Amino acid sequence: MKLKSILGISLTVWFLLLLAGEAKRPLRKSTEPKTPRVARNAVIAALSGVLLQLTEVPLTAWLSRRVEKRRLGLLNQAPMPSILRAIASIALLDYTLYLWHVISHKIPLLWRFHVVHHIDLDLDASTALRFHFGEMAISVLWRLMQIRLLGINPPHLLAWQNFLMFCILFHHSNVRLPIATETSLNRFLVTPRMHGIHHSVIEEETNSNWSSGLTIWDKLHGTFRPFSEDSSVVIGVPAYQRESETTLEAMIKLPFEEQKQVWQYDGAAQIAHEA
Ligand SMILES: [Zn+2]
Repeated sequence: MKLKSILGISLTVWFLLLLAGEAKRPLRKSTEPKTPRVARNAVIAALSGVLLQLTEVPLTAWLSRRVEKRRLGLLNQAPMPSILRAIASIALLDYTLYLWHVISHKIPLLWRFHVVHHIDLDLDASTALRFHFGEMAISVLWRLMQIRLLGINPPHLLAWQNFLMFCILFHHSNVRLPIATETSLNRFLVTPRMHGIHHSVIEEETNSNWSSGLTIWDKLHGTFRPFSEDSSVVIGVPAYQRESETTLEAMIKLPFEEQKQVWQYDGAAQIAHEA
């Protein structure tokens, strides 16, 4: 069996295990009924998935082959043992994704799209796949820059993409891990309680815990916010608390409409979390 098929099956099994864990030991109480929410997130994910198959997959494969063949980019400038190159590639891709995540909150044009991921009123493994196709389209340009400037060769790109998928499914999941286990894992990896804080309705909390894979980037930049055992975070964005604002149609249209003051509660809104 081909390596890519094995990785695909492993990711599917991981997703199903997380769904089972969420059902058995949920971390946070749900605000919306789970099945229609997951179905909506799956449609958003499918639209982005088609776009990425048509753009990111062929473009990054072509560019990383070219980078390897012509020895382009930072990591191809000096000979180094292959294990060191692999570790450096994954770490630098992970760090530059940290930077992308920060600017996707700070630049208004990018935030219009990234906010679709954040207005989910609950957080679980399906949220990990719920990114607006517009955000994915723009992120292809960042991905190409990462590969070209860092000098990422095809096997390391594949390794990082799969590491990232395992990580983002995990840290968005609503699985309640024993606190000691999560604290140990969190020394190195982003975990569900840690990433939950980034999805908080409190602006200062959202402006922390930006890392996607390794926690070191938040620690180095002073943006790491520790979690508590109860994880009593309210998930979402204050201005988008109505369930009517998280329908499939509303989510697809949101980036193209006039934007609300996201960190202020809309006075007329029924606060879904208090309903
Ligand atoms: Zn974010």
